[in-house]
Amino acid sequence: MGRSIYFFGGGQADGDAQQKELLGGKGAGLAEMTRLGIPVPPGFTVTTEVCNAYYAAGKALPAGVEDEIRAAIGRLESLLDARFGSPEAPLLVSVRSGARASMPGMMDTILNLGLNDEIARGLAERTGSERFALDAYRRFILTYADIVLGVPRDRFEEALGRAREQAAARLGVDATRLNAAELERKVPDSLLDPESLAALIQRQKDIVLGATGRPFPDDPYAQLWGAIRAVFDSWKNHRAQVYRKMHDIPEAWGTACNVQAMVFGNLGDDSGTGVAFTRDPSTGERRFYGEWLPNAQGEDVVAGVRTPHPLSKSGTGGVSGAGGVSGAGGVDDACSLEAQMPDVYAELVEVQATLERHFRDMQDLEFTIQQKKLFLLQCRTGKRTGRAAVRIAVEMAKEGLISQREAILRVEPGSIDQLLHPSIDPSAPKKLLARGLPASPGAATGQVVFSADEAERRAGQGKAVILVRSETSPEDIHGMKAARGILTARGGMTSHAAVVARGMGKSCVAGCSAISVSQGQMAVTLYDDHGHPTDTITVKAGDLITLDGGTGTVYLGAVPTVPAALSGEFEELMVWADAVRRLRVRSNADTPHDARTARNFGAEGIGLCRTEHMFFDEERIQAMREMILADGEAGRRRALAKLLPFQRGDFVGVFREMAGLPVTIRLLDPPLHEFLPQDEAQLHQLSKAMGVPAQDLSRKNEELAEYNPMLGHRGCRLAITSPEIYEMQARAIVEAACEVAAAGIEVEPEIMIPLSMTRRELAITRALVEAVAEKVFAEKGRRVDVRFGTMIELPRAALVAGELAEEAEFFSFGTNDLTQTALGISRDDAGRFLGAYVEAGIFAKDPFQSLDAAGVGELVEIGRDRGRAARPGLKLGVCGEHGGDPSSIAFFERAGLDYVSCSPFRVPVARLAAAQAALAAESSRGPRATD
Ligand code: ADP
Ligand code: MG
Ligand code: MG
Repeated sequence: MGRSIYFFGGGQADGDAQQKELLGGKGAGLAEMTRLGIPVPPGFTVTTEVCNAYYAAGKALPAGVEDEIRAAIGRLESLLDARFGSPEAPLLVSVRSGARASMPGMMDTILNLGLNDEIARGLAERTGSERFALDAYRRFILTYADIVLGVPRDRFEEALGRAREQAAARLGVDATRLNAAELERKVPDSLLDPESLAALIQRQKDIVLGATGRPFPDDPYAQLWGAIRAVFDSWKNHRAQVYRKMHDIPEAWGTACNVQAMVFGNLGDDSGTGVAFTRDPSTGERRFYGEWLPNAQGEDVVAGVRTPHPLSKSGTGGVSGAGGVSGAGGVDDACSLEAQMPDVYAELVEVQATLERHFRDMQDLEFTIQQKKLFLLQCRTGKRTGRAAVRIAVEMAKEGLISQREAILRVEPGSIDQLLHPSIDPSAPKKLLARGLPASPGAATGQVVFSADEAERRAGQGKAVILVRSETSPEDIHGMKAARGILTARGGMTSHAAVVARGMGKSCVAGCSAISVSQGQMAVTLYDDHGHPTDTITVKAGDLITLDGGTGTVYLGAVPTVPAALSGEFEELMVWADAVRRLRVRSNADTPHDARTARNFGAEGIGLCRTEHMFFDEERIQAMREMILADGEAGRRRALAKLLPFQRGDFVGVFREMAGLPVTIRLLDPPLHEFLPQDEAQLHQLSKAMGVPAQDLSRKNEELAEYNPMLGHRGCRLAITSPEIYEMQARAIVEAACEVAAAGIEVEPEIMIPLSMTRRELAITRALVEAVAEKVFAEKGRRVDVRFGTMIELPRAALVAGELAEEAEFFSFGTNDLTQTALGISRDDAGRFLGAYVEAGIFAKDPFQSLDAAGVGELVEIGRDRGRAARPGLKLGVCGEHGGDPSSIAFFERAGLDYVSCSPFRVPVARLAAAQAALAAESSRGPRATD
């Protein structure tokens, strides 16, 4: 282990921005800001290595670290001319967690540490404000008790309520008929007077003594050791673990711990605290953007307890009309930092510009103003919506801040998924319920639920839910994950709900002050056009509402949505991505409609057209069932003849949509019993329609039943026993191709055989397809190019790929089945235990979502090598879920395949992921001469 402590302060820092692994993002950012000459309260970072050593030693700080920390505190003392633990010139510190990747609100931070009765008196004298000192002290006890001593926050609620009542009495406010929330509004923290605070502190200490059996620690160093341990412990708390899993953050990273001199935003109206973004995190617009609260400390802004004010006046870059129903621009303008403290605002604007230029990315800042002096407390790369990510990347490239290549790499492919999803239909009739802040875009409809657990429960039953809370906290994260959208009554654009929802790409309306949530229902105040309240209605759990997170609007009931409209910046980024991409991107599409969607999203062909989906239609299923139930070949052919025109029609439609692009059509794959009636009623209906006794039908049903249909009579095995099925399909394809070609449209049909594992299977099916094609060409008097190929979805197929390639002109790796057959894990049953496998770290990720590169990937490479050796230029593609998964796409790029195919909505994601993979491959081959 290297050094344990990295100091920052007085314009110098031991660490810098490069050392995130060691110092965590927060520590590295504080060090870098200090080096840049930005005002940062001094402090030091205890490294992530110490955290890991702490865990390795069974939760004990490594020897020597305490001494190093005492020395660092000594350095702080001489820098600030104050003393830790002294009432004369008290030095207070914050103890802040901070991991390599930002995990907002997931771990713990303790403010105002270093206070006891005596020191609090000293602080009061020093600052001239007894109220302030006691307020800091009681907040410290509360947080410390909660985080370090394990006495939950809500145990102190009653004590705080009593303090409010006492204060109310002194203020002459009648508190007898107020509930807790109303009392808090009437007597906010800032109105608690010294006497009530002193009494509150004593009660809090009594509660701690009662709960732990020990007095609250008075010794500042004892407080410090406890806090540092608690910060390290918070790395493994439940919500941090959930967050890490969602964001693929390894447990082994550990967190750093920052000990930093306190500055006070709660020293009066010339003080305050806030958060800011160098660009709009929701839209990406280039404007300085943020919120602040005067006379407030720490998490007050993020916690959403008071609704914060904008930093800028409207029109100069800040939020306009934040919260409420009537856009109260005038009031907001007057409360803005720009209006209240123009000099501090100007300095902040300068600092944010410096930071964005320095880090060359959008920054998220936390700052505090102590008596008109600005301090930066945190900077990090700001979280943003997919839409904002695209806009910021493209605009920064155009501004010359980053290169086009960097712009491509800046946008996480998964995040653009949200751009492609529907929004509220502007012309649909809708009943406006309320307006709040547009915290995270997207439309979402669902049943109202009021707790995270309920959200999870109903979502588990397949219900769409909207989680409605006064405000969210990190404990709600599982419910937010389960919900379609999130609505909060309090909190701003940077509240927990807003930040987390944006990260998840979920619709969120925050700070909707017209609603109030209590006792399992929400009351909504309705307003007229002038902002006057007109009525109140009640919404109960289970009622449907619709959120528009892009405008901050809440509607009653379900409102229809319209497909996404892609922005200019999005198109631009895609053009850049396409220019560096090597892998082609096709789509899985079974219908002309899907084909069109896919093409609009930039698909360069269809990689998988599943013909079985074409059989499930009302009219067709009947003919299909007749075919399956027919006794001999002649009967089967009669039924198939009925299906032929339907199939041909489908293919004509698909070929037209995909004019000039390849279309890979897979011949029938699923076992036949999937098409048979599933229950008695259906069976009787069919029996009547076909004039076949119900008994005969159920006998046939039994005959076709399989123990393990996935490994049963399916795929090309169907064609070996009933070649007429594939004959009909081949005829439909070739006839359709001829028909479309005759209309002057270019067609590129590719016929694909599923589940093959021997050369002979392919030889038989190929002869069959070719014979049909020749017949059709003769009938139509024209030829079209029809390619013949196979899926590789069995391990044996990958191993004998050399032989298969003798018959096949292309391979498409069917990685869903290949994963299933290589791992011997049934896709349909995997859900029962795969979660546990991922949890236990046996698989890093679900292998059905993200390719198992070591195993299944090796089969793909074997198939590639042996196939290409036998047939140079063999075309290689992938169909299956992995074709739309960014990390799997990176593998397919490295493996040198020709294309991936994914669902239409994933096509842009795959295009971007393929471009990033190409850039990664390029940089691993060595730097380019030019950029
Ligand atoms: P998180 O990682 O959850 O954002 P932080 O460690 O950033 O937690 O602390 C949260 C907030 O506490 C900060 O935004 C800041 O407002 C306040 N805070 C932390 N350290 C100090 C300090 N030394 N002086 C004043 N405020 C502080
Ligand atoms: Mg926090
Ligand atoms: Mg922070």
